[in-house]
Amino acid sequence: MDKMTPVGRFAPTPSGRMHLGNVFAALIAWLSIRSKKGEMVLRMEDLDTQRTSAEFADILRSDLAWLGLDYDWEQHPQSQRSEVYDRYFDLMKEKGLLYPCYCTRSQLHGVNAPHLSDGTYVYPGTCRNLADPPKNRLPSWRVRVPDRLWTVEDLVQGHYELNLATDCGDMVVRRADGVYVYQLAVTVDDGEAGVTEVVRGMDLLSSAPRQMYLQELFGFAHPVYGHVPMLMAEDGRRLSKRDRDLDLGQLRKRITPEQLIGVLAHAAGLIDTLTPISAEELAREFDWKRLRNENIYINHENLY
Ligand code: GLU
Repeated sequence: MDKMTPVGRFAPTPSGRMHLGNVFAALIAWLSIRSKKGEMVLRMEDLDTQRTSAEFADILRSDLAWLGLDYDWEQHPQSQRSEVYDRYFDLMKEKGLLYPCYCTRSQLHGVNAPHLSDGTYVYPGTCRNLADPPKNRLPSWRVRVPDRLWTVEDLVQGHYELNLATDCGDMVVRRADGVYVYQLAVTVDDGEAGVTEVVRGMDLLSSAPRQMYLQELFGFAHPVYGHVPMLMAEDGRRLSKRDRDLDLGQLRKRITPEQLIGVLAHAAGLIDTLTPISAEELAREFDWKRLRNENIYINHENLY
């Protein structure tokens, strides 16, 4: 593939069956890339080895195939890439950007840390210049963040901005148990795979500036972002993994992939009438401008 080819990705966490929200994000990622004749990469995000498994990864591949969402190659799963992540960790360390953090969970969630409206807290820099670090405990590692505004021109959400210094604080990049965090792994993996387009759920919008900062440190170009709306039940509740009847294990027994894609595409504003349609047919007329940018309501009855 030449440099101009758009590259997209599926980045599922193999911790259970795909639920509707996962299917929707995967569908839009695939439509956007395939409608431009781009390349698609699959990557299993299995950093959390307690919650994920190779069996679920296999089922995910089979679910993508059932949906008609193909990909060109698969990157090594994150659980096998810690030596790659080590290199980027060392790079930051050499630049003097990392420091060990000994704060306990209760310290972090305590009164000292200002909390934001989304429940996250701003790390106040407690361990930035520790004179006398505790010797009996392994630290996590944080990267210093600059006081600077990051702006995302999101394909769905429009203009979004965040200052990591005031909205997040220095970020953990490696946990005390040695496991690298999502933000580092995803930045390295997307960067090394040459990903030019990141399409995922709206709940990850605030991760984009975090990843843009790491992309800059690691020398990767920023991808284009598209954070798709959340799927809601008709009563206004957000659909989640708890809606077991709407995961693919259940849906695959009841309806065809075309029916499912038709329901999602119609609810999202991509087609005018509710009708079964394949991903491939949809790709022929895919247009980001048609995608709703607010919560998308799914009528359960259409999925029975
Ligand atoms: N692995 C994440 C998930 O399954 C997605 C991360 C991403 O797309 O950046 O929710």
